[in-house]
Amino acid sequence: MTVRFCLACGSRLRRIREGGRVRRRCRRCGWTFYGNPLPAAVAVIERGGRVLMARRARPPYARTWDLPGGFIEAGEHPEASLRRELMEELGIRARGARLLGFATDRYGPRGVAVLAAVYRVTSWTGAVRPADDVSEARWFSRRALPYREIAFTGLRRLLRAWAGARRPTGR
Ligand SMILES: [Zn+2]
Repeated sequence: MTVRFCLACGSRLRRIREGGRVRRRCRRCGWTFYGNPLPAAVAVIERGGRVLMARRARPPYARTWDLPGGFIEAGEHPEASLRRELMEELGIRARGARLLGFATDRYGPRGVAVLAAVYRVTSWTGAVRPADDVSEARWFSRRALPYREIAFTGLRRLLRAWAGARRPTGR
C-alpha cells in the first residue's frame, strides 16, 4: 500500500530505507508511514467435520469463499470483535472461541496489510442467516475446503495446515 501524503501535515512523503524496509517519511514534520497491518478476527466454524464458509457478495474479492469475520474496531478485543461479526454476518451467537493461529495477508486493490486472528468456534446459538455482504453460507467438508476460491494466501496456508493436521482436534 502506498500513501503519498503526510497524515499529520499533508506534505509529500519521501521514500526512505530503515531497518531493511522501505518506508515513507514526511519531508516537513518527520511523520512516518509504517504500513502496520490492520487486525482482523475470523472464525473456523466447525460442526461434525464440516466448516461453514461465507461467499463474499461485494468487492474486494466478490464471489470468493472466506471465513466469516472482519476488521477489529479500536478498543475492541479480538474475541469480542469475532462475536460481533458473527452476529452481524450470520446471525449466530458464538458461545466459545479458541485461537487457532494467525494469518498475514494483503487486502484490497491497495494491498493493505492485514493480520487475522483465526479462531475455532464449535458452539453457538441461533440459525445461520447470512447478511447482505454474504451471498451464500455453505458447509464444506474439512477435507475438501475450496482453497482455489479463497482469495487470501495466508489464510489458505493456515487452513491447509489445520485441516491437514494428522491429529484430529475433536470437539
Ligand atoms: Zn508531515
